[in-house]
Amino acid sequence: MNNCFILLAAGKGKRFNSKEKKQFIYYRNKPLFMHSVEKAKKSKLFKKILLVTNNQIKIPNVDVIRGGKERSDSSFKGLKYLLNKKIKNVFIHDAARPNFSINLLKKLKKNLKNNKAVVPYINTNNSTKYKYKNKIINLKRERVYLTQTPQCFDFKTLYNLAKNSKNSVTDESSLFLKNNKKIKFIKGEEENIKITKKIDLYKNEIKTFYGIGFDIHKLVKNKNLYLAGVKIPFHSGLEGHSDGDVILHCIIDALLGALRKKDIGSLYPSNKSKFKNIRSPKMLRPLINNLKNNNYYINNLDINLICERPKVSKYRDKIINSLSKLMNINKNIINLKGKTVEKLGLIGKENAIACEAIISISKYE
Ligand code: ZN
Repeated sequence: MNNCFILLAAGKGKRFNSKEKKQFIYYRNKPLFMHSVEKAKKSKLFKKILLVTNNQIKIPNVDVIRGGKERSDSSFKGLKYLLNKKIKNVFIHDAARPNFSINLLKKLKKNLKNNKAVVPYINTNNSTKYKYKNKIINLKRERVYLTQTPQCFDFKTLYNLAKNSKNSVTDESSLFLKNNKKIKFIKGEEENIKITKKIDLYKNEIKTFYGIGFDIHKLVKNKNLYLAGVKIPFHSGLEGHSDGDVILHCIIDALLGALRKKDIGSLYPSNKSKFKNIRSPKMLRPLINNLKNNNYYINNLDINLICERPKVSKYRDKIINSLSKLMNINKNIINLKGKTVEKLGLIGKENAIACEAIISISKYE
């Protein structure tokens, strides 16, 4: 398995028009480039994953080096770094394409057995013209190849071509074409779009689901109060089979609702002793993994915490930080509101705390 995956993430993203670098912008709950890193890891095809970037960054089991001025400089830097590392095949990919499939990686690898270069392409649905010597001519669109990445190559062949290349090229297959070397073209993927402009971030959306949650627990003396996994100093804690974390229970129910999977009681029956005194973050974790494994991502989460005290404003940041960590999502998609009940009833007399939440999740393939 002497394959290496080079991920190019050193570009300036001139067309993206944002203060933040495009490759690091959040896209479906993680930085854009991480989609490619995770897929490369998950495919188990690679001995080495190399990230070429000008941002300081550390990722487990990923080598990181600095990029060059142009894409082709970064690509050559990556190839040079791999010299003497016994790499046979190299895959080169642009971080701006987060939506390729692992299946595509496998197809590329399979085709490389009898070729030195394998490149995915798609056709266009647009009528196509070409400007040639001040004249516009018609092209047959089925003969127009729009090439994508990942592209894969025999390492030595590509290295030698890149070493002797004087001009910068926009992808590695161009090097092969310039030198009249054969390329095996295979069908690429329509979904494997390149994120170039802001609007591209919202393409390929599939389906969005909403879930609502509600929970209430009695306050009792001599118990710690946990809200969203945070221990809060208070005169009482929430009674319950578990730690009584009313916010997390509410979110679990909201998530189950969005996933159309019944409710928290079905998932964690209170008559089962193995769930006794279970900490609520532990109850949430399998659901977060389930979302990830099934290609869901969270769009936003809105919470009403209903209590006389503790004051929500005092703990808002802590609670949101904790939720962001537990749910693996960005803080800016979480909102927490505090509601009092004008000292009325059980909640007003500080004998109970209630919570309601609504969550939105989307699924992509
Ligand atoms: Zn509960």
